[in-house]
Amino acid sequence: MTRLLMLLALLVVIPARAQTLSLTFDDGLDPDTQPAAAGWNAQLLAHLEQLQIHAMVFPSLARTGTGSGTALIAQWSAAGHAVGNHTSEHRSLAASSTSLATFIEQVEQAQRHYGHLPGWQRMLRFPYLKEGNTADKRDGMRSWLEENDYRAAPVSIDASDWYYNLLYLSWLENGDSGKAGQIQQAYIQHLLDRAAYYEQLARQLLGRSPDHVLLLHTNRLNADALPQLVSAFQGHGWRFISPLQAFDDVLYRQQPDILPAGESIVWALAKAQDLPGLRYPAEDARYEQPALQAQGLVPAKSAPR
Ligand SMILES: [Zn+2]
Repeated sequence: MTRLLMLLALLVVIPARAQTLSLTFDDGLDPDTQPAAAGWNAQLLAHLEQLQIHAMVFPSLARTGTGSGTALIAQWSAAGHAVGNHTSEHRSLAASSTSLATFIEQVEQAQRHYGHLPGWQRMLRFPYLKEGNTADKRDGMRSWLEENDYRAAPVSIDASDWYYNLLYLSWLENGDSGKAGQIQQAYIQHLLDRAAYYEQLARQLLGRSPDHVLLLHTNRLNADALPQLVSAFQGHGWRFISPLQAFDDVLYRQQPDILPAGESIVWALAKAQDLPGLRYPAEDARYEQPALQAQGLVPAKSAPR
């Protein structure tokens, strides 16, 4: 609490500026199990280069595999993007079946696997943004990070791109490019909505607009929609910066005292202050599905996860 007050005191003197945003991409792709994945990865990297945006990727071995999927992550590093830790097995630390010791071992496995890449950062993105269901796990992980010269890499803006991607892939598979295009539009609107939500929540809590970090995934929808996505954000007054620059914001050093721990760091700070109207989980397909269903954009066969 005192930390937050100090923050507030510091920030009243900082002049207003454009809202800033950085892009992080979780998971990675595996061409060994998904042959088109190399193309999507190349598309993402080409768009980022064209748009002159530095991003950060958080691969998990469970998603990339140890073969050609790992080589795709090396391409991100070679293109000047940062690479962070997303564990080897992509397990949720909020699951009672995931022990602290197992989780730490899986962070170390990922470090051993990707740690040689030039863009590597000792920064951990918790799978599913879950930072522990007990105080022992949450605080044990916070201590481990500190002792191992690691930092947590939370997001400020959480969203459900994975769900829109699921629908997008279904429509493309059904040969309905019209519906797929509508999903793209709905998806961009969804991201703008979530960004506006977390921005107002952050302003309410911090009294200022932080340097935002957006959660995305390495998927086909983002590979196809990235240029439109970026131009939509720019049209709404957002300016893009690199994630490493955004992570310098003191917002990302906060350690809210909540359980289960995690979600967006902005949401977690709001929860720690008992702000009314917070939903849990903060983002999920269940919130997106009804409106998309009403627009006829949920294919009969694709039930949300
Ligand atoms: Zn993930």
